Amino acid sequence: MSEYLLSTSGLTKQFGHHKAVNNVDLHVKKGAIYGFIGRNGAGKTTFLKMISGLSKPTDGEIQMFGYRNEELKNVRSRISCLIEAPGIYGNMSAYHNLAIKCRLFGINDSKYIENILKIVGLSEVGKKKTKHFSLGMKQRLGIGLALVGEPDLLVLDEPINGLDPEGVKWVRDLCRYYAAQGRAVLLSSHLMSEVALTADNLVIIGQGRI
Ligand code: ATP
Repeated sequence: MSEYLLSTSGLTKQFGHHKAVNNVDLHVKKGAIYGFIGRNGAGKTTFLKMISGLSKPTDGEIQMFGYRNEELKNVRSRISCLIEAPGIYGNMSAYHNLAIKCRLFGINDSKYIENILKIVGLSEVGKKKTKHFSLGMKQRLGIGLALVGEPDLLVLDEPINGLDPEGVKWVRDLCRYYAAQGRAVLLSSHLMSEVALTADNLVIIGQGRI
């Protein structure tokens, strides 16, 4: 068994003539946090989308948990992501949003949901509809949704967007806690100082290349 949870080789995504991600080889180890830094348009989100199964590579290969190509569908439930705006039902509470995701994982346990609400700091929001949440509250719920099923690979694109200083520290601690359990976290941010504080490995992207 490979020591890597995820490996990419020659991973490429082309839009028209433009290579948003260009021939990227990356190896992700268990128990580590990888911080992606780069300018606007550098290719961070496109890379994270491809490994999360949200975008099809134009070229190259992704290997995850020992599976590759078409076989990746067998291990999709072991990777979870928060990319761009969290997919949240606005007319429902945080609890019910989590309950729907839990159902997909075969989890029917109110204590499990309450524990996630506690982890993400939303225990007190009660029945409030998520469309009335602040930006930071939505972000916290998005992270909570990504935690359902305890994925072995957690992908967080700009997780600290909209969070207050306490929330920023909370994301840092959460990532460290997660990695310490032998899982891996991939996160992106524009804030170099924050990535440097959180990640063990810095992945600097420019013009689609690492
Ligand atoms: P930011 O920091 O602004 O979020 P990023 O590093 O995440 O940027 P990407 O969103 O991956 O950058 O975009 C990389 C490049 O790919 C950009 O030039 C962008 O315009 C282009 N791109 C992304 N998605 C598409 C698409 N669906 N169609 C065409 N071009 C796209």
